[in-house]
Amino acid sequence: MRGSKRMLVMKFGGTSVTNPLSVAAIAKQVRSNLEQKPIIVVSALSGVTDLLVKLSNASNKGEIQDILAEIRLKHQQWIDNIFSQNSPCNQNASAQIDFYLEELEDIMQAHDFSSSLARHDSIVAFGEKMSSYLISRYLVNNKIQAERLLATKCIITNNNFGGADFLSDETILHSKKNILPLVENEIVPVITGFIGATVNGETTILGRGGSDYSAAIIGYAIGAKEIQIWTDVDGVFSADPRKVTNARLINQLSYQEAAELAMFGAKVLHPRTIQPAVKADIPVRVLNTFNLDNHGTLINHDADNTHHVKAVTWRKDVPLINISSPDMFLSKGFLQRVFAILSENNISVNMLSASEVSVSVTLDNVGNLEDALKQLNEFAVAEYRSGLGSISLVGEKIMDTPLLMQNVFNLLEDQGLKAEMLSYSASNINLSMVIASESIEKIVPKLHDQFIIS
Ligand code: ADP
Ligand code: ASP
Ligand code: MG
Repeated sequence: MRGSKRMLVMKFGGTSVTNPLSVAAIAKQVRSNLEQKPIIVVSALSGVTDLLVKLSNASNKGEIQDILAEIRLKHQQWIDNIFSQNSPCNQNASAQIDFYLEELEDIMQAHDFSSSLARHDSIVAFGEKMSSYLISRYLVNNKIQAERLLATKCIITNNNFGGADFLSDETILHSKKNILPLVENEIVPVITGFIGATVNGETTILGRGGSDYSAAIIGYAIGAKEIQIWTDVDGVFSADPRKVTNARLINQLSYQEAAELAMFGAKVLHPRTIQPAVKADIPVRVLNTFNLDNHGTLINHDADNTHHVKAVTWRKDVPLINISSPDMFLSKGFLQRVFAILSENNISVNMLSASEVSVSVTLDNVGNLEDALKQLNEFAVAEYRSGLGSISLVGEKIMDTPLLMQNVFNLLEDQGLKAEMLSYSASNINLSMVIASESIEKIVPKLHDQFIIS
């Protein structure tokens, strides 16, 4: 498409699409960027996805009706806050939400899904279907030509229900086919975040918080100029600003730094967001819908070499497996066997640390943990540990920071804490430690003060 490099993908998260002030800000931002051909991606209204997950697991009729009523109320409150009472807009929107809720009830009773996981994804997808409809009507009501588009027509995924991944060729083809004609006709597409569809047309979800990833996939598929993630804080901070009061806004991050931050706990970006952006070399900007004047955080190829810690992130719940086998550890094929078992049991590894006689791995997801442990214990001693969390220090070339390790150890020792595991990658960008979950809140501000504030 001619001029396609001008396209701008703007993703608005849950709080941004829910609060009347930020909804007005969305229209303002879209209007002032019309020249740049904006493509909007939206999350569900705040709290709706949680309710849908609950609905999907509910079996009792009364409970189902209560949850549906709660979902209806959330949307009706939005409609009443945004469209004047008794206006045709208000009435049409209510009718459309009722229609979706009826469809949802039908789906709850349907038996034609390929699996219970497929059914779950189809139910949970309704949050974005409803919010994208509402936001598109709001834009139209504000004289912006906009049209809602379901991502099931654009993002084509594998069958990994619950956390599907996109298929590149199919997604490029379908995204271009469905998005570009709207853009060419000066219509702003308002696309559902979080969801996609298999080649057979079954709805999938991309994992919780996945609308950031949706925006990046769409940006990649159509070759956008920039992917903007609009959220409820000023950008990416040196630590979660809601937990660490002196956290600093980071002006610029390399793709790799942002990916590590997201992977190791910074909720502001879904962990997989960076991957499509880097593949197509599209800058990502994180911005605040509640503070439009702020410049946000720019994420691109540029890496600075100042050798310092840029951010501290943490995850509170990090399962760990210690595997030891004094006789066999260095024997040929041992690690291969360990990883084959983990993979067969749908367990993905996050961190790894190995010594002469043992290997410790932290897990991204627990998969079929019991089976995996049984199989591992047939040829080694495998012990599962819970109650642990991880803290990561992230920054390009951080291992070159003078006295980094020494200062980390001193700090832990001063607090009477012991790292159960330490891990740093050869890419020299992330130093992670596993410690007791309950100690994380105590140590994070101290690490942050030591490596970022002072
Ligand atoms: P959205 O609904 O817009 O996707 P999220 O709640 O998923 O928003 O992500 C934004 C939140 O991420 C912020 O409110 C903040 O509390 C949290 N967060 C965690 N770590 C960081 C960080 N390093 N920088 C900025 N925000 C962070
Ligand atoms: N609505 C989805 C969730 O709550 C996706 C998102 O908000 O990014 O997980
Ligand atoms: Mg999010």
